[in-house]
Amino acid sequence: MPAPDGRPRLLILGGTGEARALAAALAEAGDIDFVTALAGRTSAVAGLPGHVRRGGFGGATGLAAYLAAEAIDLVVDATHPFATQISAHAVVACEQSGVERLVLDRPAWRPTAGDRWTEVATLAEAASLLPRYGRRVFLTIGRQGLAAFATGDDLWFLARVAEPPDAPLPLGDCRVIAARGPFDVAAERRLLEENAIDVLVCKASGGTATDGKLIAARALDLPVIMIRRPPPPPGPRVTGVGAALDAVRTMLDALPCREETPVS
Ligand code: NAP
Repeated sequence: MPAPDGRPRLLILGGTGEARALAAALAEAGDIDFVTALAGRTSAVAGLPGHVRRGGFGGATGLAAYLAAEAIDLVVDATHPFATQISAHAVVACEQSGVERLVLDRPAWRPTAGDRWTEVATLAEAASLLPRYGRRVFLTIGRQGLAAFATGDDLWFLARVAEPPDAPLPLGDCRVIAARGPFDVAAERRLLEENAIDVLVCKASGGTATDGKLIAARALDLPVIMIRRPPPPPGPRVTGVGAALDAVRTMLDALPCREETPVS
């Protein structure tokens, strides 16, 4: 149902700290009506400002139908850089619906002196490299994709996931910890040392919430196998909530005026 007060309507595709920060900034400003959409796989809704919608849309077609039904003026894709499916759906749905779309991206990580990173394209490639680096592996790739590491090699895993798993993970010898970022460097270093980690595997997610493990790995001279980021979705892209707010206002100002829906 369109916003009855004539405020523009925004859909934030969320599931990230950036989406949460944007929602907080929009809630404080109060001049834009917005809803944050979450895939709904975790319980990370607590304290999220504004309206929240949980669950998939049913592909690009379902998302396009939602945009029309809710009279959405602008979509901000603030999803994780590795959430490629929902981003691709947003591209198609917005094109079909004639709705503007902005990507809220995260700054990429860059190796600095002392980093021992090996970049790979896939989880399978990361798994195949592990035996040459050691036996004890810290895996921070999330829950999906863990099966790629069930290779039968004689490896031990410390697997960090966002929430306690409701079923055993598809890894052999492992310890599972459930925790959400941000993680600080000292705690990450302790974790690596206490678990005698030989090698770290992570996604090139970027940003500052989860880079503590990389700083700790550098300090301990540990190798890191980094899954490369997929290419970003096309179209206008900003990093940082301040830049996103500015871009949102500019894009909304450029839209043709919409008639207010009378309040019955
Ligand atoms: P994905 O592979 O791109 O999407 C799979 C399906 O989940 C989509 O087709 C869509 O279902 C639904 N979906 C995903 N994000 C959604 C959202 N924000 N709102 C509504 N539906 C959504 O996504 P993913 O990699 O599984 O990630 C799921 C969510 O977790 C994303 O919101 C992402 O921001 C967050 N996240 C992902 C990662 C990661 O490493 N991939 C890390 C941290 C957080 P329908 O086709 O039915 O619409």
